[in-house]
Amino acid sequence: MSVITIERKVLEKNDELARQNRELFERDGIFVINLVSSPGSGKTSLLEKTLEHLNGKIRVAVIEGDVQTDLDAQRVAKFGVPVVQIVTNGGCHLEARLVQDALGKMELEGTDLLVIENVGNLVCPAGYDLGEAMKIVIASTTEGDDKPLKYPAMFRNASVLIINKVDLVPYLNFNLDELRKNALRINPNLTVFETSCTTGSGIREWSEWLLARAGGGNN
Ligand code: MG
Ligand code: ZN
Repeated sequence: MSVITIERKVLEKNDELARQNRELFERDGIFVINLVSSPGSGKTSLLEKTLEHLNGKIRVAVIEGDVQTDLDAQRVAKFGVPVVQIVTNGGCHLEARLVQDALGKMELEGTDLLVIENVGNLVCPAGYDLGEAMKIVIASTTEGDDKPLKYPAMFRNASVLIINKVDLVPYLNFNLDELRKNALRINPNLTVFETSCTTGSGIREWSEWLLARAGGGNN
């Protein structure tokens, strides 16, 4: 009983800070996405490919969330975009407060798009609003097509599903249509992309879709 109360208080506090973040993003005209997935789905690889495609078209900044190490931030920094690493030291999700702290370390003037790469975890990031415009859930073909059924909250709260590593489909016991069907049953409003960071397929479609939302150069 008391556990439930504490959890609710934590989430209420988080929602308030997320609201502050969102207000700031809207005021400054920054489109913010929260990338969520299980570990190993290829979030950072997808981000690299996306940055490659958006290079020169739009100003992007990145917040990297990881349990340990700044390896992902180092990968992203190679693309010449401002990046701040949040190390959660074991924490399994990002919170609005951590994002607020990271924002204090960034120069966001003129930024069109802020990408927040969450900690690899399909459970609690679903419940923690960071102030983003939308959650983007990435599910890779190596994870099985029943993911949406096992983690419905995440698929319900996301606006976009990216099915990554589609190049591996011929080698896997994985049904792409089944994943799509399962996801759309939980959230019929999901926009779905299919990508491969190895062959590059789908990267253009996804990046152009994102570019249209982030309104490059118009603000
Ligand atoms: Mg990563
Ligand atoms: Zn967590």
